[in-house]
Amino acid sequence: MRKLVVISGLLLAVAGCNGQGAQQQSHIRIACTTGMVADMVANIGGDRVVVDQLMGPDVDPHLFKASLEDVARLRQADMVFYSGLHLEGKMTEILASLGKSKPTFAIADFIQSRRVLSDGSKAQDPHLWFDVQLWSQGATGVGKALAAQDKANAADYAKRAEEYRDRLEKLHDEVTKQIATIPRKQRVLVTSHDAFRYFSRAYDIEVESVQGISTDDEPSVKDINELVDFICRRGIKAVFVESSVNPRGMKAVLEGCAARKHKVAEGGTLYSDAMGRPGTPEGTYEGMVRRNVETIVKALR
Ligand SMILES: [Zn+2]
Repeated sequence: MRKLVVISGLLLAVAGCNGQGAQQQSHIRIACTTGMVADMVANIGGDRVVVDQLMGPDVDPHLFKASLEDVARLRQADMVFYSGLHLEGKMTEILASLGKSKPTFAIADFIQSRRVLSDGSKAQDPHLWFDVQLWSQGATGVGKALAAQDKANAADYAKRAEEYRDRLEKLHDEVTKQIATIPRKQRVLVTSHDAFRYFSRAYDIEVESVQGISTDDEPSVKDINELVDFICRRGIKAVFVESSVNPRGMKAVLEGCAARKHKVAEGGTLYSDAMGRPGTPEGTYEGMVRRNVETIVKALR
């Protein structure tokens, strides 16, 4: 999807150079940061928008720094959507500066703030998309933002936003049912970084991780040892790595378990902060959620 999107972006730029601006007017050019944001905006914008997704598969949004080319893409867009709550921690300045010159929205701002998790005095948890129902609240806000930009088609955006919410509502029920099939004692998700707290709350599964809610800091020996203790004590049978996070920390945990003669399997790779490759089922938000749930249920049940 990303390639296609970039190509259409180029075509538009070429059309602009040739003075064929009329055609350009028919689409809203929208730059999005993560795949989850781009998926929502593309679904609601339909064929009236051209979405340029900055962060591809395997890209860690906590660590992503916008290159000069990325900044140019953001500047060219008519609107910008990002995830928010400091997920794009290294883009804070550029996003604030874009907000002064064009409509710029964080999906997090469309979501009930009282349902946002935080770590006591620490930062708010940005991984909202792991609670499918909570994330779906963003759709209404995106629909309204698009309608304000393109009033003539406001009804279309509202309709598609509602359809997207309905689909996600069904997906939420599906995830709830699937996770409930794991016996309670085994319902513990051990992952590379602490991205799954919303998933934990929404679907009643305990979570533990090597790193905190950002991947910015390296895990300490103490963190690793504590997790090894936890896995051995609770008899956890599988742990998971994440597609966008360096597996080094989890490797150390597995070695620690092996040294303690506790057998623990690699449950597979979860899509946490980035979706899968375009054109694959996990290259969409809904497909990514389904693939994660399939991987988790298979390894833990
Ligand atoms: Zn994360």
